[in-house]
Parts: sequence; structure tokens; C-alpha cells
Amino acid sequence: MKIHEADARRIFSRHGLPVPPSELIVSADQAKAAAEELGCPVVVKAQVLVGGRGKAGGVKLAATPAEAAEKAESMLGMEIKGLTVEKILIAKAVEIEHELYAGIVIDRRSRKPLMMVSAAGGIDIEEVARTSPEKIMKVIIDPLWGIMPFQLRQLQSFLSGEREVARQIGEALKQLYEAFMAVDASLAEINPLVISPEGKVWAIDAKINIDDNGLYRRSELSELRDESAEDQGETEARKNDLSFVKLDGSIGCIVNGAGLAMATMDMIKHYGAKPANFLDIGGSSSPQKVLAAMRIILRDEKVKSILINIFGGITRCDDVAQGIIDAKKELGIDVPLIVRLTGTNEERALKMLEDTDLITAASMDEGVEKAIEASRS
Ligand code: GDP
Ligand code: MN
Repeated sequence: MKIHEADARRIFSRHGLPVPPSELIVSADQAKAAAEELGCPVVVKAQVLVGGRGKAGGVKLAATPAEAAEKAESMLGMEIKGLTVEKILIAKAVEIEHELYAGIVIDRRSRKPLMMVSAAGGIDIEEVARTSPEKIMKVIIDPLWGIMPFQLRQLQSFLSGEREVARQIGEALKQLYEAFMAVDASLAEINPLVISPEGKVWAIDAKINIDDNGLYRRSELSELRDESAEDQGETEARKNDLSFVKLDGSIGCIVNGAGLAMATMDMIKHYGAKPANFLDIGGSSSPQKVLAAMRIILRDEKVKSILINIFGGITRCDDVAQGIIDAKKELGIDVPLIVRLTGTNEERALKMLEDTDLITAASMDEGVEKAIEASRS
């Protein structure tokens, strides 16, 4: 789950990071008042859940409250990468001498948090990683120990040769790690972390992605979700307890179990087509879940056939069959449905499907081949 800069700033502040004061506003009048209160110059920042707002015209400096109002006025309602600007952050501006980068992600290989820093901040870190990887220092953090003092010293001295500046950076990196852990983040990033001409360190941008799987124990964070920036299908999937990822092929997939769903996508590729999505309807699936899955997949106009591949263990094949029949009736589906059901209550399920125009398959291979054939006719 992505959260807005204003919310990420609040989380960073709570952990002691040096974040300039700011106010969230929704009108030009409020922008003016906020600029008066904070003291100019201020920076006017569009709150949209995409990166690179600066280049897209979503981050502007203002020298007076009147200018802040003017810039906010022109930014409100503007579109940035497909998202409409509804809220703006007015932040006290900082004078910049150097722009650094500091970020933490989960490293899949070591299965631990990985902190990355670079003195080449402000711009796209992926670009730096590609063109000059020597400008990035990475350390893996053992979550049992937390970030170690020697690691902080390595990182801070890589970023600055000035003792007092380096000390502030080390402090900020430690706080960044604490914030990352406290919200079960999958990513926490400060780009740029800046050094002012007086040698003071500031975090002037804030980005946090929270791991959805951690939200059950941090319900207060769920309120920070902004659905307007999510794929509609993914939002609906989440509400129905389905795990869904949209892809760009033409074969829709409804599968139970993440492993079987991955195998099904591999088979579709193996037989020369592309899956339209990953969808795991989970262990115990009710007819309602199948109905929701069908509705989500059918929203994608590229879908030419839907393969339903179910291995019934806890999932009962007759429940799934009932879901398919309901969906067909309720949604008026006109793309071909290919059904492979095996396991618990298989016979009952197949009997239910007998008098329908659904295409059945006895094996996974057969199901995949039939789904591809149907998508091409
Ligand atoms: P992003 O483009 O979405 O990552 O937005 P940022 O918050 O990182 O802002 C983009 C750029 O605007 C930064 O890299 C800075 O160069 C500039 N900027 C942002 N805030 C300030 C500020 O307080 N003072 C100055 N001088 N520049 C700023
Ligand atoms: Mn940034």
C-alpha cells in the first residue's frame, strides 16, 4: 500500500527525522494562510501517489504567500501521470547545498531489510544504479540486531566527510530504519535527504510503502489508503479477500492457491499465450468469491477466455461450480469459460455443469490448451 507524502512525513517526524514543518491544504486561500504561518519561502507540493512530481510540475517553490496561493491554484485539479491533484502540501522550504538519497527495501535474496544510500540524490535512483553503481552503498540489516553502529558509521562517512554533517546523517538513517520497522514497510525512502549551506540535514521528501500483509495488526494505517490511485480490480479483489495482480495477456485465470496459480500462468506461457492476470481465490472459496473474481476479470477488455483451474482440497468443487453458474447468469458472460475441477466433490460439481455451455477439461494441460484455442476463435 502506497501512502501520501504528508502521511509519510508524519511517520518520519514521529521517529525523530528532521522533517521541515508543513500543512496540508485543499484551496488557494488555505495555501496563502499556510505560507504566512510557516514563513516563506515555501514549497508547494502536489499530493499524488507517483514519483517524479518535480519534473511533472507538481513541486514548486514560492517566495511569498501570494505566490504560494497562485501556484496552489494552478496545481489543484491538475493531472499528474493520470492522477488528479486534490490535496497540496505546503512545506517550509530548505536551502539546498547537496541532495542525497537514503532508502530501505526488503532484499529478496537475503530476506532482510537493505539500506541504500547515495550522494547522488534528488534524481531517479534506478538511473544511478544503472549508470554508476559505485555511487551507491548498500548494507543488509539483520532485523534481530537492528542497524548496527558500525553500519551507520560506514554509511554516514560514505555520504559526508564532515564530522558534524556525517553525525546528523547517521542519526537520520537510524531513525529511517526505526520508522521502516514500526509500520511494517516494504519501502521507506528519503529522496532527497539534503544538506543545507549551514550544514544542517533535512528530509524534504518522504515515501513509504506499507506491506499489506502487516496491516491486520496496524489497522490505524489502513485509513491512509488512497483508493483513487489503485487499479480498480485490485481494490475490488482486496475487498473480496482475493489475491489479484493484473497482467497484460488475454487468458483470464481463476485458480485456488498461489502455487497452482503460478503453475497455471507458466503453462499458459508454455503453450504460447499470455495470462491476463494472477488470481488466487484462496483456500476455502465461497460461490460469492468466484462471482467477484469473474467480475474483476471481465472488466479487462483484453480477456478472450477464462480458465478456471481448481484443485479441491479444502475448497469444494461444487461450491466453485455454483459460483460459476451464478456468475454466468448474473453477469451475462459472453467469453468462453473453460473449467477444470478436480478433488473434493468433483463428481457433484461436474454433474452441475453438465447442462451448461461451459467447456470442461479433465487435466490442466487440456484446460490450458482449450482456453488458448477458445481465445483465438
Ligand atoms: P518528487 O519529484 O516527486 O520526488 O518530489 P520531491 O519532493 O523530491 O521534490 C523534487 C525536487 O524539488 C527536489 O529534488 C528538490 O530539488 C526540489 N525541492 C523540493 N523541496 C525543496 C525545498 O524545500 N527547497 C528547495 N530549494 N528545493 C526543493
Ligand atoms: Mn523525491
